[in-house]
Amino acid sequence: MSDDIEKSFKTLKETVPLLIKHKLSADPTNYALWYTYASNQSPSLNEAVDATLANVKSLSPVRTEDLYRAHVADKQEVNAWQLRKTMDAMVTEFTQSVKDTRKETNKFRQVMDKSLDGLQQVENEGWSVDEVMNFVRSMVKEGQKIRSSTLTFSAAMANAETEIKELKKKLEVSEKEALIDSLTELNNRRYFDAELSSAVANKEASLILVDVDHFKKFNDTHGHQMGDQVLKAVAKKLKDSCRDGAQAFRFGGEEFAILLPNNVLQRACHQSDVMRRAIEKISVKHRASGKTVSGITASFGVSSYENGVSGAKLIELADKHLYEAKRLGRNRVMPMR
Ligand code: GH3
Ligand code: MG
Ligand code: MG
Repeated sequence: MSDDIEKSFKTLKETVPLLIKHKLSADPTNYALWYTYASNQSPSLNEAVDATLANVKSLSPVRTEDLYRAHVADKQEVNAWQLRKTMDAMVTEFTQSVKDTRKETNKFRQVMDKSLDGLQQVENEGWSVDEVMNFVRSMVKEGQKIRSSTLTFSAAMANAETEIKELKKKLEVSEKEALIDSLTELNNRRYFDAELSSAVANKEASLILVDVDHFKKFNDTHGHQMGDQVLKAVAKKLKDSCRDGAQAFRFGGEEFAILLPNNVLQRACHQSDVMRRAIEKISVKHRASGKTVSGITASFGVSSYENGVSGAKLIELADKHLYEAKRLGRNRVMPMR
């Protein structure tokens, strides 16, 4: 079992008793909250939960959701979570509308049955014109009720359909946004973590970590906006250089990661050098002055999967090589192959 899986299994084993102890159902919010608590990933959450439990005996669903939103979910997740809530509310409303219509329809059927009995009486007992008219009037009234209930139902259904379509679209966008870095439009660190785990599980992975050289100095000299332009240009070069199933991610700040679906270190080092040379060619133009800036370089650290190493270990190894590349003078790929 890899370290990661072993750790999450251990946390899982601690989470379930916590849910039982606090008499909570294992819905996703409760689960995520207590899993995070058991893993101690967010000390502020543990403090908040302990503080709340010191005052009250148990966590209400509302309090749980507040804690979840404040400490576990990030912005996009909250967004997606709210959308899901709205969809749930709509489904409830819609179900109620169906129930109401069914109730009205049943009532109408009973009235019709009674009416048929009545008609039988007209024949058998020889009703007066007034009696027949009263009877017809009450039938018309019931008929109008069912008609208006059906109309409301169709309108609710049409509304619900459009709203659900819109919400679904928003949900898709929100879920996509949660995985994409807005500056570079590359997939983000969260996406990377998921892809790395599955690549390691498939035992087919090489990792390249890329760090822009002396980027703090670049920002200080040319301004943060120019820095952003450089990051976009680097991201584009990396993405364009991806071949044979390689994927580029923004790892964080001025660092990028490339994931390759094979264990051939030499191939990954070769790809790194192609990328390194592409970055050397970048030049960005200052919008106000029209001046172009070039001479941008980056350092590369590479690692490849072998003998059951974990994703964390692959990152550690690539990072160690990246540090070596920096130490030896930057603008290079380590290990040398
Ligand atoms: P080294 O060659 O050792 O990597 O030096 P460095 O200056 O690149 O490294 P350091 O980690 O000291 O600085 C990284 C800089 O990257 C600091 C930070 O302001 C900048 N940076 C991180 N994210 C962004 C961003 O989104 N936009 C801009 N413009 N700068 C960023
Ligand atoms: Mg860095
Ligand atoms: Mg750097």
